Amino acid sequence: MAYDRNNIFARILRGEIPCQKVYEDEHALAFNDIRPQAPVHVLVIPKGEYVSIDDFAAKASPAEQIAFIKAVGAVARQLGVADSGYRILANHGVNANQEVPHFHVHIFGGRNLGRMLPRD
Ligand code: 5GP
Repeated sequence: MAYDRNNIFARILRGEIPCQKVYEDEHALAFNDIRPQAPVHVLVIPKGEYVSIDDFAAKASPAEQIAFIKAVGAVARQLGVADSGYRILANHGVNANQEVPHFHVHIFGGRNLGRMLPRD
């Protein structure tokens, strides 16, 4: 999948659309999800142009990859969910119903999240 520079997270990174920022460093940005599905629902995104974890793993520099993992951990601690527990999740493609085609990790917490995927 080619990267779409007009996706909503690219526009947030360019400052064209506001976000409720919770963390930022050289390589990553984290902000509250606009439609939270848990008391804590934050999105962590790399600043580079990647559509998915496999794209990120293939193309991002080691420095970007290390910084991103460290950012996710730092944000979880900053949000105060490291002790009570949290879930990270990344959607990619049609079967995962990915809405925004810029790689991102969701961090959910603040309540018991149930087990894994809902059965339907
Ligand atoms: P996905 O399904 O791609 O993993 O999730 C995309 C997430 O981005 C959704 O949870 C959605 O609520 C969130 N989102 C979509 N547009 C915006 C926006 O403009 N601002 C913020 N903060 N979150 C957004």
